[in-house]
Amino acid sequence: MENQFRQYPLEEDILGALDALGYTQPTEIQAAVIPSILNGRDIIAKSKTGSGKTAAFAIPICNFADWEQNTAQALVLEPTRELAFQVKDELYAIGRFKRLKVPVLYGGFPMEKQILTLKQKTHIVVGTPGRVLDHCKRGTLDLSKVRYVVIDEADLMLDMGFIEDVRNILMHLEGKPVFMLFSATMGERLEALAAQFMHEPLEVKIENDT
Ligand code: ADP
Ligand code: MG
Repeated sequence: MENQFRQYPLEEDILGALDALGYTQPTEIQAAVIPSILNGRDIIAKSKTGSGKTAAFAIPICNFADWEQNTAQALVLEPTRELAFQVKDELYAIGRFKRLKVPVLYGGFPMEKQILTLKQKTHIVVGTPGRVLDHCKRGTLDLSKVRYVVIDEADLMLDMGFIEDVRNILMHLEGKPVFMLFSATMGERLEALAAQFMHEPLEVKIENDT
């Protein structure tokens, strides 16, 4: 049977990468958000661990990214280094035929080496809030061309005390990027963050595993 991801207007390079990954059918959360993200709508998505949230944002982001533009076109914020690397692997796998470069910025790693990496090829940046903000302040990460922003595991970000860093990073963005917020739960402070930066977000809640 034909890969069900072909129902979306995705590049052949992306569809081929999904075939290679064995992703033949969108999960429930992916089916709920991918068309909206492709249309440039902000989204708030609540769903369980293991429901396929990473590919839900990675597919539209990799589809959008242009290899010829050597600059951060999307920014993905993760609460921990481990999650940042997992997400990088998925972006890399989905963007492999486009040869997308996905530097990971996290604390505790030499700043100079990250700066060198950023100066080579950069298409999609994944990072933890403290270090990403540090690069913004030093002027070593240019966010002016970022069109897609993901706040992943937002409830964890809040629990770990990263929400103000996230807010400060978002203040460095220019224009009207597409905002995506993924969380297991929402609460007053996340609602306030969403209200500050998002425009009529589509709110999706998936209860069951797929
Ligand atoms: P979440 O972020 O919601 O916790 P992940 O994005 O880590 O979930 O995905 C969980 C697992 O499902 C991963 O191993 C991923 O490779 C797999 N996966 C994601 N989307 C699909 C799909 N459409 N088809 C098959 N497997 C998928
Ligand atoms: Mg996840």
